Amino acid sequence: MAADADRPMLLTNIGELTTNVAVDGDPCGTLRDAAVLVHDGLIAWTGSADAVPPSPDALVVDAGGRAVIPGFVDSHTHLVFGGDRAEEFAARMAGERYAAGGIRTTVAATRAASDDDLRDRLAALVAECRAQGTTTVEIKTGYGLDVATERRLARLAAEVTDEVTFLGAHVVAPEYADRADEYVSLVTGVMLATVAPHARWIDVFCEDGAFTAEQSRRVLAAGRAAGLGIRVHGNQLGFGDGVGLAVELGAAAVDHCTYLADADVAALAASDTVATLLPGVEFSTRQPYPDARRLLDAGVTVALASDCNPGSSYTSSMPLMIALAVREMGMTPSEAVWAATAGGARALRRTDVGVVAPGARADLVLLDAPTRVHLAYRPGVPLVRRVWKDGRQLPGSGTAQGQPTMRALANPPVW
Ligand SMILES: [Zn+2]
Repeated sequence: MAADADRPMLLTNIGELTTNVAVDGDPCGTLRDAAVLVHDGLIAWTGSADAVPPSPDALVVDAGGRAVIPGFVDSHTHLVFGGDRAEEFAARMAGERYAAGGIRTTVAATRAASDDDLRDRLAALVAECRAQGTTTVEIKTGYGLDVATERRLARLAAEVTDEVTFLGAHVVAPEYADRADEYVSLVTGVMLATVAPHARWIDVFCEDGAFTAEQSRRVLAAGRAAGLGIRVHGNQLGFGDGVGLAVELGAAAVDHCTYLADADVAALAASDTVATLLPGVEFSTRQPYPDARRLLDAGVTVALASDCNPGSSYTSSMPLMIALAVREMGMTPSEAVWAATAGGARALRRTDVGVVAPGARADLVLLDAPTRVHLAYRPGVPLVRRVWKDGRQLPGSGTAQGQPTMRALANPPVW
């Protein structure tokens, strides 16, 4: 049975296949009565179930007429942390307004946690993501805010994903209260030099209560000089400079985008910077949702991500993001599914995920539903039936016979 992991797989009798290879005005590249052939962890072929190339060795999986989509690409999370903030959430639901300073509570708990504690908690969250169909996840540091802890967080994140982001500039470290410029010098100096070998990206929280535009510019410029790609937290709590700075510096993505001036929207539309919307935050903080319709109508590329973190959005559910985007932000179900898959891939400048096309990674989700619309139409219902990452069915997903569940458990794929 272990050899099944290396056998080709034919996933057939797919009622609706979302490829995200645009055809005839359909960005989702929808195929009906389709099949997917997987070989060596990659998509080898897609097309009509009536026209499958000869594949006598393939393990055949019958989708039973259900829908298949690319695995979700969650391009914005903060999964490595200690403690939780359930009491802060309860207080906020009782009427207290969210302020960025709550991050410092998690910083104290994270610094106090051992590597083993943090690793175990991260593994549990990663398993939670996978069970809900996420096959690529970005993970940020940012709950250490000192050199040693930021390095620890980046190392731990790198154990489970290639998409690690250095977010030393999350908030000013408590030791540097009233000395923000000195803290920025630490972030752009020793801290960056120590963390950069473990990271692909640098990020900054450009917002009142966090970092000014000039401080943010220093952080991003230093990160770029160290060879990291650029991402920005901006325009979450009010109008500001985050979007303009992100576009000016050629960031891969600017995330939140809740408060946008017309000039911000125009700048995004004229750029290849992705606007990543994080509706779990607005849901969990009772703030106004970003206007996805306005961005899409202007021609901006939009991604959806969970922002999973213990303060402002303690959910890893991409199906929930899709439901919120459709219900609250003016997106169609197809636009939201695209944004949670192909959009996330664009936000990470990846072409090998977020699509079901020959040569792409075989990251697939079989839904317990006839169409992708059900992800928004049936909010809160666990519709993810099976998940494959690099062609291997992930543990905890599905109950099919002949699947390499134990082997996958013993040898988890890195993402
Ligand atoms: Zn965030």
